[in-house]
Amino acid sequence: MKDHLPDRLDLYAAAEAGRVIKGRIPVARLARVVPLTASGAGELDVILELDRDQEGTRYLAGSIKGVLELQCQRCLDSMDYPLNVRFRLGLVQNPDDLQYLTDRYEPLIVTPEPAQISEVIADEVLLALPIAPLHADIDNCREVAADYDVSANAQRDNPFAVLKQLKQKT
Ligand SMILES: [Zn+2]
Repeated sequence: MKDHLPDRLDLYAAAEAGRVIKGRIPVARLARVVPLTASGAGELDVILELDRDQEGTRYLAGSIKGVLELQCQRCLDSMDYPLNVRFRLGLVQNPDDLQYLTDRYEPLIVTPEPAQISEVIADEVLLALPIAPLHADIDNCREVAADYDVSANAQRDNPFAVLKQLKQKT
């Protein structure tokens, strides 16, 4: 078993042949995912199963597992987010054929160009990410209340200081 995924793959031909591809991909290679993480660190385990079902539909069934480092939107500290995505994509060469796809599949239109595997994976990871990741328990959030008080007081003091200076001038 190869431990790395191919950069590009002719998905339709692979489904025709019936192939299972397993490997790891660094989060850093998922260019559209990285900005949504805290560090872009880590690797994801990917399994891609390509085959034809009984009705002749070429499909890509996959799973993506791993841990993403996201930024908690409550305390802005980083947090581990376990990812466990499963998906079933029906491969369609011609948009006109979308109507024949059963609702067991999400459609993926394949072009004559071999698909970029990192892009297919990035799409599925983006769909699985929470809009506002939060530590599950507020007790796990970094203490920030004290910091906020200090900065708020500092800002409040500022206008008074200016006033004092004005008074001293007159
Ligand atoms: Zn938090």
